[in-house]
Amino acid sequence: MNEIINHKVLQRIEAYEEIFDSVRIVEPVTKKIVQYKDGKITEDSVLCYSGAMDNKECANCIGLETLKSQKTFMKIQHVGDKMLLVFTSLIPGDNGNLILELIKDITDGLVIETVYRSEEHELQNIVQDLNTLIMRDPLTNLYNRRYMDRMLPREICKCDSKHPLSIAMLDIDHFKMINDTYGHNVGDIAIKTVGAILLKSIRNESDWAARYGGEEFLICLPNTNSEKAYKVLERIRKNIEKTVIRFEDKKINITASFGLFTIDSNEFAVGDLFKYVDDKLYQAKEQGRNRVIK
Ligand code: GH3
Ligand code: MG
Ligand code: MG
Repeated sequence: MNEIINHKVLQRIEAYEEIFDSVRIVEPVTKKIVQYKDGKITEDSVLCYSGAMDNKECANCIGLETLKSQKTFMKIQHVGDKMLLVFTSLIPGDNGNLILELIKDITDGLVIETVYRSEEHELQNIVQDLNTLIMRDPLTNLYNRRYMDRMLPREICKCDSKHPLSIAMLDIDHFKMINDTYGHNVGDIAIKTVGAILLKSIRNESDWAARYGGEEFLICLPNTNSEKAYKVLERIRKNIEKTVIRFEDKKINITASFGLFTIDSNEFAVGDLFKYVDDKLYQAKEQGRNRVIK
């Protein structure tokens, strides 16, 4: 990795060291960090988030966003009782791109002569809410498309023959008819209902679901083979089928179709994976809807 960090980059890092509390170089997919301190580079076995209080990776990883768009990003992150300002910027290299990550503790220095101790908690909540808003779909509280775009390449990267990755697309059946018959409000309730079923069905720490758009949802099941994923999706499908939406004096039933595709190699591009999943979803619709096709 050292070849990537050439002299020019080192000079840049030195300048940042005077301003920021922490200057790190992160391999954004594996999350490994390369520490630069006192003129020396040390490759570290720790992961970029392992210093954080809850030892969890950030849902709103701006390193992945920088990797994707090649632009510099900034966020304010509240970690424990500290407020951190984080910048990420791309370091292009021959052996792959790395991320320069600059962290400044702004807990005491923030603007904020006007914020009293008693208001600090409120400020932390606002930062938390902001970070949630960026990553979540407001109607369902599932992850949004932005989160999905960042995380999918990473999930693909982590997968191999021992850790297969199952990806499914869920599409509500005859949704246009629900909108046309009962109105958009009921359509939105149906979307919310499916979102809630997904949230409670995906309990495993590593699984996640996102609202892909309209009445379509993506379900990501890392470390899950095709048979196991099929069972999870069948359970979700049955849950949706038996749920009754009550609106005024009406009882409305909905169903959904699922396309499932499982990969066991990290050589897939996101676009190809989507093509396969879409094709399975199309087959589910063609074969009569309310089913999972793998
Ligand atoms: P199929 O079983 O083949 O999936 O039929 P469908 O009617 O569900 O599929 P189609 O894609 O033709 O229709 C989806 C409709 O969803 C179109 C649009 O009017 C509606 N829609 C998209 N986004 C929203 C939303 O956020 N809220 C509501 N209420 N309706 C939406
Ligand atoms: Mg659709
Ligand atoms: Mg539909």
